[in-house]
Amino acid sequence: MEPALSDAPRPGSTERTRLRRLPEKAVSDVDALRAVLDAGLVAHVAVVDASAQPFVLPCAYARDEERLLLHGSSASRLFRTLAAGAPTCVTVTLLDGLVLARSAFESSMNYRRVMVFGQCEVLDGEEKLAALERLSEHLLPGRWNDIRPPSKKEMAATMVLSLPLAECSVKVSAGPPEDAPEDLDRPVWAGVVPVAQAVGEPVRAPDMFLDIEIPAYVEEWRHGR
Ligand SMILES: Cc1cc2nc3c(=O)[nH]c(=O)nc-3n(C[C@H](O)[C@H](O)[C@H](O)COP(=O)(O)OP(=O)(O)OC[C@H]3O[C@@H](n4cnc5c(N)ncnc54)[C@H](O)[C@@H]3O)c2cc1C
Repeated sequence: MEPALSDAPRPGSTERTRLRRLPEKAVSDVDALRAVLDAGLVAHVAVVDASAQPFVLPCAYARDEERLLLHGSSASRLFRTLAAGAPTCVTVTLLDGLVLARSAFESSMNYRRVMVFGQCEVLDGEEKLAALERLSEHLLPGRWNDIRPPSKKEMAATMVLSLPLAECSVKVSAGPPEDAPEDLDRPVWAGVVPVAQAVGEPVRAPDMFLDIEIPAYVEEWRHGR
C-alpha cells in the first residue's frame, strides 16, 4: 500500500489516486475537494472482510477540516471492521446531469466525485462528542442546539471514526456532450439534462403534540439546497 505523501490533502498526488481514464477530469484543487464534500450528504464506505469479500455501505458523513467523520452503531460490522484498522476507500458522488450525446458511446453523466483512501481512527471523549456535533451540523446546520445531546449510554452505543483526507482524488465531469464530428448531423437531440436533489415539504411527526413551528434552519436548509 502506498503511503500518502503528507497529511495535507493533495488530490491525485499518489500513484493510486492518479486518474488513468479521462485524466483531464482530475482536479487537484483542495478547495474543490472541500466543496464536493461539503455539498454531499452520503458517502459510500468500503471494507474487505477476513474472507476477502468487499462490502460497500452508504453512510452519513461530515468533513471536519482535513478529515472525514463517520458515525454508526458500535455493533455495526462495518464500523467494527474499520475500527480494527481495515483499509477503506470512501467515495462521495454528486450527480449533476445526464449527458445526452448522439451516440451511445459518448452518452454519459456530469458529476463531481471524491475518493479517499486510508485507515480510520476511533474518536473518544470530548473529541467524539464534538465530532457528533459536527456531523449533525453538516447534515442540518442549527439542529444540534435544539436536540437533546447523547446520554452516556447512547455515546457507548455509538462509534465515531475519523478518516484523514491525505490520500484522495477528485474527478469532475461537466459540460456538453463530446460527439464525434461524423455524428454531429444526426437528427437526434443532444445536450445535458441537469439533475439536482429536491427537498420536499417537512412532514410533522405524528406524535408531536406540542405546537411548534418548523424551525427557521429547516426552511433555510430546504431552500439552500
Ligand atoms: C442514506 C443512508 C445513510 C446511512 N447512514 C448511516 C450512518 O451514518 N451510520 C450508520 O451506522 N449507518 C448508516 N446507514 C446504514 C448503513 O449503511 C449500514 O446498514 C449500517 O451501518 C449497519 O452496518 P452493518 O455493518 O451492521 O451491516 P448490516 O446493516 O448488518 O448489513 C448491511 C449489508 O452488508 C452485508 N454484510 C455482510 N457482512 C458484512 C460485513 N462484515 N460488514 C459490512 N456489511 C456486511 C449484509 O449482509 C447486508 O446486506 C445509512 C444507510 C443509508 C441508506
